[in-house]
Amino acid sequence: MRQRLMIALTVVLRPAFVVADEPTTALDVLVEAQILGILADLRRNFDTALLLITHNLGIVAETCDRVAVMYAGHIVEEGDARQVFARPGHPYTRELLRSTISLTTTGLHYIPGAPPDLVAPPSGCTFHPRCPNAMRVCRDQDPVEVVSEGGQRVLCWLHGPEELIPAGGREPLERQEIGVADEA
Ligand code: SF4
Repeated sequence: MRQRLMIALTVVLRPAFVVADEPTTALDVLVEAQILGILADLRRNFDTALLLITHNLGIVAETCDRVAVMYAGHIVEEGDARQVFARPGHPYTRELLRSTISLTTTGLHYIPGAPPDLVAPPSGCTFHPRCPNAMRVCRDQDPVEVVSEGGQRVLCWLHGPEELIPAGGREPLERQEIGVADEA
């Protein structure tokens, strides 16, 4: 009820821009649908820009035009929401999407490991201790933002740039080469 009240107050002000941080957390699906309906009306009727912060990919698919996926405090992929969902360019996005459940789900998928310690993050790509595609360059160098084949902006060495990857950098990273300290 408090969440609905806050959104009602927002509507009264007719804002140009709304930041909704986990607006449907801990709500049942019926109230969640009502809240999403109100936010959709806000966009449609008042031309309000909406920045939705959520861990719920279903809500993103339903509500957003564009999506930015964050890992360890960085945007690792950004682009048109439908395109990102159809062709994720970053392994973290791909694994997140694999971890969602649907009516056809027969087993739960999860990303091994845990989020990194942000005080002493892993070297190179902060996702490398958990990434199924990790290569040597991922451990040694910070990834550079590139535009993937799907048109998304992606922070991942899988997409290059080739000229910055040293010889042998594309060799797969064996699990035993990943420092224990990286497994936060
Ligand atoms: S840069 Fe390497 S470790 Fe990081 S997401 Fe891409 S493939 Fe995985």
